[in-house]
Amino acid sequence: MRIYEFSKEKNISTKKLIELLREGGFAVKSHMSVLEGDARTFLENALQPKKNDKAKASEEPIKKEKKPIKAPKVPKPSKKETKDRSVRQKKIEESLRPKEITSEPKSVGEVAQIIGRPVTELIVTLLKWGIVATKNQIIAEDVVVRIAEHYDVSVVKPEVKKEEEAVQKRAVKGDLKERIPVVVVVGHVDHGKTTLLDFIRKTRVAAREKGGITQHLGVYEASTPHGNIIFLDTPGHEAFGKIRQRGIKVADIVILVVAANDGVMPQTVEAIKHAKSMHVPIIVAINKMDKVDESRIEVVKRQLSQHDVLPEEWGGDVIYVPISAKMGTGINQLLEMVILQAQMMELRASTTDPAKGFVLESKLERGRGPVATIICQHGEVNLGDYFVCGKTSGHISSMVDSYGRRITKAGPVIPVQVAGFEELPSAGDYFEVVSKEDYRKAKSASAGRRTIPGKRFIHEGGINLIIKADTDSSKEALIDSIDKLSKRLNNGFNIIYSGVGDISEGNVEFAFNTGSQIVGLHVKTETNATSLAQRRSITIMHHDIIYKLLESLEARAESIKEIEMVRTKIGEAFVLRVFDIKKIGVVAGSYVKDGRFSRDGYAVVFRDDKKVGEGKITSLQREKKVVKEVHAGYECGFIVEGFSDWQVDDRVECYLDIPKST
Ligand code: GDP
Repeated sequence: MRIYEFSKEKNISTKKLIELLREGGFAVKSHMSVLEGDARTFLENALQPKKNDKAKASEEPIKKEKKPIKAPKVPKPSKKETKDRSVRQKKIEESLRPKEITSEPKSVGEVAQIIGRPVTELIVTLLKWGIVATKNQIIAEDVVVRIAEHYDVSVVKPEVKKEEEAVQKRAVKGDLKERIPVVVVVGHVDHGKTTLLDFIRKTRVAAREKGGITQHLGVYEASTPHGNIIFLDTPGHEAFGKIRQRGIKVADIVILVVAANDGVMPQTVEAIKHAKSMHVPIIVAINKMDKVDESRIEVVKRQLSQHDVLPEEWGGDVIYVPISAKMGTGINQLLEMVILQAQMMELRASTTDPAKGFVLESKLERGRGPVATIICQHGEVNLGDYFVCGKTSGHISSMVDSYGRRITKAGPVIPVQVAGFEELPSAGDYFEVVSKEDYRKAKSASAGRRTIPGKRFIHEGGINLIIKADTDSSKEALIDSIDKLSKRLNNGFNIIYSGVGDISEGNVEFAFNTGSQIVGLHVKTETNATSLAQRRSITIMHHDIIYKLLESLEARAESIKEIEMVRTKIGEAFVLRVFDIKKIGVVAGSYVKDGRFSRDGYAVVFRDDKKVGEGKITSLQREKKVVKEVHAGYECGFIVEGFSDWQVDDRVECYLDIPKST
């Protein structure tokens, strides 16, 4: 009998049973451990005496005190011994603790210390990658991530690390509530992930979803007799890879699907590596059991054991469940194992704090503008909340749950699709509910980031539009027609936002931030909005007839196409040193972090996210040679016309005017 079976029989939590067994000196690993030898008798006894005590107590309330039996004397360790022991213990714990590095710029020395390698070794590795760096030099986030991957160290976002530490502190204080687990299904292609997810979705959707799924968020909640589970339905999704790369742990448990007939394949090994780097427990589902002989179970176990995924009975702690996703056999047990594993993990979250979480997916949706599916690991999101998310911010204007229903709030790990983003966020962006004041600050900082005078920022894929109409139906009709026109012109327009009512100051501000033009159908522009639009050089087109509006839009797209040079961001660098060279000028010795820097480029300089200068790049050098371009990962020096007030750590964006592709 296994612990979890005993737990069911006696109606006592597996956690309590495991604690009892460990106190009794039994080496048990998990709820799947078999109660061997005396373990079961021990448990029966351990659970028995309490009842007896009570019974006895009531039978003979006044009982003569017996002399307590003295424990044999064990010499106490001296203070020094205790100290030595605790130092040793700490060292052992330290060495066992999985290594983890936050994905933010750090000095080479710091990175070496965190990953536990000599600095010289790291310098050599970087050299091999073409990056020349000394011990105190700061390396960019993406290089830190690359090093982590190279040395098999897991990467964690700094915000996540901070949050985890805060959570640990609060867990000790006990003001967190239990939450349901988030599970991701991984495995080699064709091993049955989709079939498994589909089967669970069809048979296990929570009762409230009975009306049918109107909107699929790539996430769903399954109900089981023991508790609910959130399934991330995006294993092969590109966004999921991005999320993983950014060191974000969205899932609590990984179900690794291995087809019994195929056994371990390359993507199985990849998936194991990822799960291990995130320190997420694995549950193995040996699939397609309807196709093969039982003996294949042993073969798969043996193969997986070579990758350190050891089953319980061979001394490991991984649970294996044979299933057939096609027939639906074994799925109940698999789900039960997920719930038990989750109970062991004691997943907890705050329900009262402002929400914090991640973007799983994002898209521009007709009529709603940018929307994103988010999953908050802590706190509650409410309609009307202000938030910051990656490089953008916003104000929650509507929320839809995975069943397609409009909701006004959502607790931890409940996936929701949120509208109200000022700009499209990216998968993996950190989402955080903030005060109105912080939201304003974030908004003005991001507006500063994008402002380039002269030519305004234009979306690479076409002309950005903000649409205002007098009624919802005329708005919808306009969106439809613009979509059609856009297709005919080969991606001519992006509708960034659409709304009903007159054009307001807020619409103009939004147009400015997103590099959009405003189109109004049967609406007016408020007076203060007109003056703001003039100051910000925002184009507003008014029309009362839809086809006239479309004609002028088409003319606009065509004229822009002819002459349009799109000022496009091509790279980003950080200033490491500043050289004032006589007769030549002030040179910004920098490290190109992303993309490339071009001699023909235009530089925009930021300090603490505020723009402090800009100008044409007049000279670009690498290792004392004049060059045309310098790519990410390399150092270079450049001079910017009309700007010399450089400071170390300034962030420089390089733009290039590129003829717009038609
Ligand atoms: P994915 O690429 O991992 O998502 O795999 P799919 O779920 O698309 O499954 C690949 C193929 O295997 C499909 O033709 C499924 O019908 C089949 N398949 C999945 N699970 C089972 C199973 O339990 N038994 C059998 N016989 N076939 C299965």
